[in-house]
Amino acid sequence: MNTCDTADWIVFCDFDGTITTRDTCDAVLSAFASPLWRELDERFHAGELSGRECMARQFATVTASEDQVARFLRDHVRLDPAFPRLVQCLQTASIPLYIVSDGFDLASATLLQAAGLGHIPRFANHIEFSARGARVTFPYRRDDCISGGGNCKCSHVRSLATGRQVMIIGDGYSDRCFARLADLVFAKRVLLDHCRQAGIPHVPYQSFEDLIASPEFQRVVAKTAGV
Ligand SMILES: [Mg+2]
Ligand SMILES: [Zn+2]
Repeated sequence: MNTCDTADWIVFCDFDGTITTRDTCDAVLSAFASPLWRELDERFHAGELSGRECMARQFATVTASEDQVARFLRDHVRLDPAFPRLVQCLQTASIPLYIVSDGFDLASATLLQAAGLGHIPRFANHIEFSARGARVTFPYRRDDCISGGGNCKCSHVRSLATGRQVMIIGDGYSDRCFARLADLVFAKRVLLDHCRQAGIPHVPYQSFEDLIASPEFQRVVAKTAGV
């Protein structure tokens, strides 16, 4: 009887700097890459390199093994402490959650599994570590995407939302492409500036704690749960 209600919303959530308190690419590059990575980052911010090209070149200088990187991530990167509660709220309200990351798959897999949240479906760039340098590939790239990132987040929204209302949660450059498609945007940092400049309606937030407490989020979970 409530099937329409329960199919009402779908949530897409960024990973780095949104679910984690620290960007996993920056963390791994600081620890393992040639110092050149910061220069490449500046060229990306200056618009001289796409996100994809920047990431591929930065990780090509990382010669650490997959085990070393996974261990480092578990020891040095934390999740937002209220993320499990967000997952629980959405599950209770039968709202599907997808994680869309423009970072690399080993990072999100390692950290979510360590938190007992490895079952959440996710999309990310693919990385293979080797002593000759890590190789990043972009199975979800789209050359016509405005984000220039490796993982085109708007294409996941287009293929998965199927008539549902879309909530997105993000903080960065790669979140710009899907913010335009959302019915409800929770934004911080770069994405917040972008929404302000582009006139995209949004709700600013700092952590999942205040996102969960916001009337906008509460309205969605209450409505979907049929309360
Ligand atoms: Mg991010
Ligand atoms: Zn896109």
